[in-house]
Amino acid sequence: MLEAQSLTRVFGSTTVLDDVSLRVEPGRMTGFVGANGAGKTTTMRILMGVLAPSSGEVLWGGEPITAEVRRTFGYMPEERGLYPRMGIREQLVYFARLHGLSTGQARQRADDLLGHFDLTDRAGDVLDDLSLGNQQRVQIAAALVHRPTALVLDEPFSGLDPLAVDSMTDLLRTEASDVPLLFSSHQLDLVERLCDDLVVLSGGRVVAAGSVADLRSRGAERYRVVLDGHDAAWVRDLRGVRVESVDGPTALLTLDDLPASELVAAAVARGPVVEVARVQQPLTEIFREVTR
Ligand code: ATP
Repeated sequence: MLEAQSLTRVFGSTTVLDDVSLRVEPGRMTGFVGANGAGKTTTMRILMGVLAPSSGEVLWGGEPITAEVRRTFGYMPEERGLYPRMGIREQLVYFARLHGLSTGQARQRADDLLGHFDLTDRAGDVLDDLSLGNQQRVQIAAALVHRPTALVLDEPFSGLDPLAVDSMTDLLRTEASDVPLLFSSHQLDLVERLCDDLVVLSGGRVVAAGSVADLRSRGAERYRVVLDGHDAAWVRDLRGVRVESVDGPTALLTLDDLPASELVAAAVARGPVVEVARVQQPLTEIFREVTR
């Protein structure tokens, strides 16, 4: 497991990270979200050892991390890291060789990754001649080329079309199925779909963290009632509920002091019911609440 423990980073008189602790568990995709300037890139740089913390430390398997361990990680930095005028296959092979693969293994690996991203016929092209989306795919391939023991990816999905997102997530799920993977993103719908765990940063502090499922189900007991054609206004007469909205046969409400079974019974007693369902809080709402 990769951990940050009480990281603080000060630039001049500005505290950019304030006591940031987080855990990235192997085999779980961890999303790292927060408004512009929240401190995500700074945290990732510290995790990768590109930047030193003012205080706090990074742990790997519970022990202070070493440069040697970090060399086995895959990193996609915000400023990206590849050579614009070098052939894409050539540089994947080069990075794989730097990480100790033999020439034969490096070539095989580069070809496999290029194949996954449908870039085999572009293998001889220089990076700059590819579209931005394809450049992004090569950046990811470079982070994966040496079969990293952990992945730290700064906005790997920015600028990708939905199909490219799918092929990249497929690859990450296969390649990082048993290593810690942390990635930052502003696309909350994507984070909600992909992540197992989530860390929300606001103003340099962690304001929420945990599994996406727990974060979404905690808090209010919200239910949606949909009746078969008849009006749902009667929910306003129920005791122990707060009604958010009633729109014809549909009502949205929160159960404060009424068991869900009694809500179902009350609905059924009034006529045919299409559904009574728990409504999970969307990530966008959680995000708005915790970063307010
Ligand atoms: P974004 O989503 O916009 O990429 P972020 O969450 O990644 O933002 P950071 O890039 O970590 O945020 O920046 C956090 C804060 O630290 C910002 O206010 C930024 O201006 C400041 N900062 C980052 N690097 C430096 C630096 N080298 N010197 C001074 N301030 C810096």
